[in-house]
Amino acid sequence: FDASQYAAELQSHWASQGGDASYALLTRAFVLANATTSRIKIVDTLVNFLRVLIEGDSSSILSAVWLATNSISPPYDELELGLGGASISKGLKKIYGLDNQSLKSLYDKHGDAGDVAFEAKKRQSFTLVKPKPLKIKGVYQSLMKIATSKGTGSQETKQRIVEKLLQDTQGSEESRYIVRTLAQNLRIGAVKTTMLIALARAFIYSKPAGAQYEVRPQSEMARLKKDELAEIYNNAEEIVKASYARHPDYNDLIPCLLEIGPAEELLVRCGLDLHIPLRPMLGSITRDLSDMLTKLQGRSFSCEYKYDGQRAQVHCDEQGKVSIFSRHLELMTEKYPDLVSLVPQIRGEGVSSFILEGEVVAVDRDTGDLQPFQTLTNRAKKNVEIGAIKVNVCLFAFDLMYLNGEPLLHRTFRERRELLRSLFVEISKHFTWVKSMDATSADSESVLEFFKSATDVKCEGIMVKVLDNTIVDTKTTNKANPEDTIKEPLEQENGNKLKEKNARRKALLSTYEPDKRLESWLKVKKDYSTSSETLDLIPVAGWHGSGRKSKWWSPILLAVRNPETGSLEAVTKCMSGFTDKFYQSNKDKYAQGSTNVISRPSYVDYYGEPDIWFEPQEVWEMAFADITLSPTYPAAIGLVSEERGLSLRFPRFLKVREDKSIDEATTSDYLALLWRKQMERASVENNSTGKD
Ligand code: ATP
Repeated sequence: FDASQYAAELQSHWASQGGDASYALLTRAFVLANATTSRIKIVDTLVNFLRVLIEGDSSSILSAVWLATNSISPPYDELELGLGGASISKGLKKIYGLDNQSLKSLYDKHGDAGDVAFEAKKRQSFTLVKPKPLKIKGVYQSLMKIATSKGTGSQETKQRIVEKLLQDTQGSEESRYIVRTLAQNLRIGAVKTTMLIALARAFIYSKPAGAQYEVRPQSEMARLKKDELAEIYNNAEEIVKASYARHPDYNDLIPCLLEIGPAEELLVRCGLDLHIPLRPMLGSITRDLSDMLTKLQGRSFSCEYKYDGQRAQVHCDEQGKVSIFSRHLELMTEKYPDLVSLVPQIRGEGVSSFILEGEVVAVDRDTGDLQPFQTLTNRAKKNVEIGAIKVNVCLFAFDLMYLNGEPLLHRTFRERRELLRSLFVEISKHFTWVKSMDATSADSESVLEFFKSATDVKCEGIMVKVLDNTIVDTKTTNKANPEDTIKEPLEQENGNKLKEKNARRKALLSTYEPDKRLESWLKVKKDYSTSSETLDLIPVAGWHGSGRKSKWWSPILLAVRNPETGSLEAVTKCMSGFTDKFYQSNKDKYAQGSTNVISRPSYVDYYGEPDIWFEPQEVWEMAFADITLSPTYPAAIGLVSEERGLSLRFPRFLKVREDKSIDEATTSDYLALLWRKQMERASVENNSTGKD
């Protein structure tokens, strides 16, 4: 892969097009990104593409970023393309002159609508009018028109736009990607993190004409040592990622980047804001209580009940306007009008604006008893009328991220919690604090008691959160030792040891770190402590069943997610735990010629040849007997062995995780962690029975 050659190619393409950047340029980047599974190459491709835009036509970058991330607006904007497959098929028939039969046979052969469009465009012999080249901005504007056209006649308007786009494509690759974009299934690995990294790097090298910030000349960059360059990349990437985690909207991020580049100031200019949800901080998994206590040795922490409900971020501005967002940043103000109506009462004296976070749990209004998560799912998502509410809820607040115009993210958890509990007002059975207990690792008995009390009231376990940025001497006092206060910036010496030490300490800071899964927030779930772990896996392929199951897909190939590379790594084949009814619905869902894909998607890792590849779209909870090293499955390869991956023995389907998207499936690291835990257990058992 030669990035410089690609850059030259882009430049010459650019020169030949002039004016607004053409969609062909973006298509070229898609084709290159799709041709590789290497994350590094995908990042390089995007960096080169973005650089050409920054220097040549910065006005197209925003549209390009939306298109490349397979979205048109942030999740809380509620804008949807809402195009059915029928609308795309109708357009393909009309514009590429296909009849029903030929469209069907193309679908049967290729599966993916984009691939069908590619073939159809290739076969199209002539067009009456030579279309004008599609522009990146134009395509994005068309999508926005589709998403915003409402009311009578809107279906026809949308159809016309779809057909115009299909008509204007210049070549079969453009058709493929236009259709994939319309079907909202781009199938390139430009996930969020890849795009953020690419943006950071592109703006290190390039700036738009007239921008105030400085970029180092290419020749100077080329002379830098590997680790100097890595540090420059790292700083810029951290800033861009942190800004996006606080303010996840490219409509604001891109204009700021164009003005100031990936500078520290980005975090101020494009930081926390009311009515824009920040990406939540996440908890790391622990094996059990003793693992948690070891990890938090020497720290003060708060154990909190881990309620089984829905995470909610509540924003309120000075005028009293309230917005409520979900864990995935969707707007759910309409789902909880009862919580909105509580805000004036919970807002204590002196509180003008805030962002707080908590878990919404279904409760029995009379007793206040917690109800299972299932009960909460019975509440409608929209147009909930306060008077007609049947599922009552209580908000158990656990964090405060913003108060009276000031972000609190840099404050310690102890301080944020103190502000939350002193400035807000509890309303019994409607709004209260998560039940909690402060402890250190010396308090194992009371922590165990607390854990039991949580599971007794049907909580999932406990969340454990570091309270201060200080280390306590548990042997003598239990009081924070001021000498050990971690000062920012952390010590600046060289050497890997120190780097590691600083990273460990940083991972244990008690600040609120949006979108990060650090060790300062730990989850201890009750099911971790037994051997009945389950995994949330993604079905990625299947084989034709035999005998009684010949009408269905069986077995089915399942994968874990590698968060580093974005790949789905096959881990096991499963043919147990399915009912006939499930087999049938699964066959319908992954019917040949519709939602399946014809060849192995580039982001799926597997060495074998299934009969059908699925379009990854859901998560299944799976039970299993144990984890084994395997030469045939690539899951977690490199994490426990260089040559072998991990697989499951006796996998059994339990249920579809309706509440999880594929981004939340079990990761390869977690699988490796479970494997290590299993090995530890085995060695303890062997020692006690005297076996090797
Ligand atoms: P994650 O949200 O960490 O990606 P997940 O969706 O599998 O993973 P869990 O492992 O169940 O979720 O745990 C995290 C969730 O627990 C939080 O997102 C939040 O909704 C919920 N929760 C319940 N009680 C608390 C609490 N006291 N503090 C923080 N989160 C809590």
